[in-house]
Amino acid sequence: MTDQEQIETLRKELRAHNHNYYVLDTPTISDYEFDHMLKQLQELEQNHPEFYDPTSPTLRVGGAVTKNFETMVHDHRMYSLDNSYSKEDLEDWEKRIERVLGDVEVAFTCELKYDGASISLTYENGQLARAVTRGDGTQGDNVTTNIKTIKSVPLRLKGDFPSKFDIRGEIVLPFEGFEQMNKERIANGEEPYMNPRNTASGSLKLQDSALVAQRPLDCLLYGIVGPNTGIESQWQMLDKARGWGFKVPTVAKLCKTTQEVMAFIDYWDIHRHDLPYETDGVVIKVNSLQQQDELGFTSKSPRWAMAYKFKSEQVSTVLNEITYQVGRTGAITPVANLEPVLLAGTTVKRASLHNADQIAKLDIREGDTVFVEKGGEIIPKIIKVDLAKRPVGSEAANYIDQCPECETELTRTEGDAKHYCTNYYGCPPQITGRIQHYISRKAMDIEGMGSETIELLFKEGLITNYADLYTLTKEQVVPLERMAEKSAENLVNGVAASVQIPFERVMFALGIRFVGETVAKKLAKAYKNIDALMAASEEELVAVDEIGERIARSVVEFSRNETNRETIDRLKGYGVQFSLSEEQLENQTDTLKGLTVVVSGVFETVSRDELKKLIENNGGKVGSSISSKTAYLVAGDKMGPSKRTKAEGLGVPIITEQEFLAML
Ligand code: AMP
Ligand code: ZN
Repeated sequence: MTDQEQIETLRKELRAHNHNYYVLDTPTISDYEFDHMLKQLQELEQNHPEFYDPTSPTLRVGGAVTKNFETMVHDHRMYSLDNSYSKEDLEDWEKRIERVLGDVEVAFTCELKYDGASISLTYENGQLARAVTRGDGTQGDNVTTNIKTIKSVPLRLKGDFPSKFDIRGEIVLPFEGFEQMNKERIANGEEPYMNPRNTASGSLKLQDSALVAQRPLDCLLYGIVGPNTGIESQWQMLDKARGWGFKVPTVAKLCKTTQEVMAFIDYWDIHRHDLPYETDGVVIKVNSLQQQDELGFTSKSPRWAMAYKFKSEQVSTVLNEITYQVGRTGAITPVANLEPVLLAGTTVKRASLHNADQIAKLDIREGDTVFVEKGGEIIPKIIKVDLAKRPVGSEAANYIDQCPECETELTRTEGDAKHYCTNYYGCPPQITGRIQHYISRKAMDIEGMGSETIELLFKEGLITNYADLYTLTKEQVVPLERMAEKSAENLVNGVAASVQIPFERVMFALGIRFVGETVAKKLAKAYKNIDALMAASEEELVAVDEIGERIARSVVEFSRNETNRETIDRLKGYGVQFSLSEEQLENQTDTLKGLTVVVSGVFETVSRDELKKLIENNGGKVGSSISSKTAYLVAGDKMGPSKRTKAEGLGVPIITEQEFLAML
């Protein structure tokens, strides 16, 4: 055998053993033999760099170091899931589905909801091309080098796979491996990790892939997206993925009736505790992909899937002290500082008490024993007080009336649940909070700068608002604590680069109360530049689609403020984008103004997402289901029959993709 042949044989065999061991859980050789073969391959590869293969099993041990994870846009957006907490919620969901699909059979695939870090793997010609974290759903971090070290992720596929597709899954850390890691940390005098989920997602962002390789991470897959996959149902998808070499949990079940779905939930609510990893619910998906297509998505999640969250565990502990936090909007949040307690795999030390009413409602006092629950979210909740254990002589909690940070008298407007510190320009956490928001990922995404840096820069008197960021020099930053020459340079460059961020994100970054990402986008599109927006009256703003009175009032208040106007003038001077780009403007028309258009099926020249964007860019609204208000139904290939019947019944014009494009 030539060396090349031997390399290829070893790679093939090791791949098969990897699959047997990590995916199928049925090894056919000893660890010793495996290690021996791996070492042999390593040596041969070292002598023959010309036979390099990016999918070689030797790459599993890691070694590549990533300094900065590149941001990558997902080809297909990664959506969230809607949550339900009761069987009634689920029944309501099923009724909504029936309403859209009409009188047809609907089957469901039930899967467990694994609690880890979501990941999207892209395969091209059967090879792992990249692995990207969910990020904000639209774009995430390229963590391919780290993912390659996870043994259950196939680097090369078997069988008859599509030439290009994305597969989604969850990176999890089994309890056993997590506990082992913590044992070692404690032995080394290090703080133990909080919970498997956070440790799994933290692992993906480690710079040294050799460290990732040492962690017993696993990757469980559940969904394929891409064109021409030839897949017709969720159930078939799971099956095919398994065949190509992916680790797809076998506990999934295809259910024909609601009763079967409920039985699956009841069974796993109990038996999930026997599983090696954390699960926090069941995901129920409409099985037929054609039906999924007809149901479509809301702005956040698919209408064809629903997560059912298991009831969370409760524990009791002592409330030591109530402290108060000031947010970037000046909102005060009372925080319960608890005697540390273990809950669902996490040590809980603090819990939010939300507001004064909540404290009154719970009648919670310092020294009380309380019941704490962890829902699906990271932040635990206090459910109730164990009155039987209330210490004698305990006194009702006294809500603060002054800001704990700047001593300003707190105000509470009618209708507001929270108390506010109105010292907008003088209250430290509000000042730093706004700047932290400005630099954050979904806003200006300034690299090389974190929340702590902002606090430091503020403490040193170098910045008091976000415009000041643009005046920072390397010489000012270097002397700061923990700042090296290089990081100071990155910081200054990061700020300079942010002038490229498009107007809609700048609108979000400004931190105007109630102006979230979606609203910022709407405003940017409607007004096209900041001057027009800041000149708008409340009445004009309310006329914009989806802008309510509360938002309008807040925008006007922001715009009238002299300090804000000055800050924005300064930002303009630094080159920050305050109008839509030429390109964005060029493609915008009012052709479809006031019209709702529904798209359904598969299209030829443009993708579904591009079609939707076209509708919005031309002033129209994308509708999700057909009603008498629908102006057009753009019908592609494989459109659901019920949509057609409904459109015909209501006299909604059905047009082809070509007709629609011609219209624009
Ligand atoms: P959420 O983060 O609560 O919106 O829930 C959505 C997330 O659940 C997805 O991004 C996945 O990472 C995760 N997930 C875990 N198991 C599944 C599953 N079987 N099907 C779909 N999503 C799942
Ligand atoms: Zn204050």
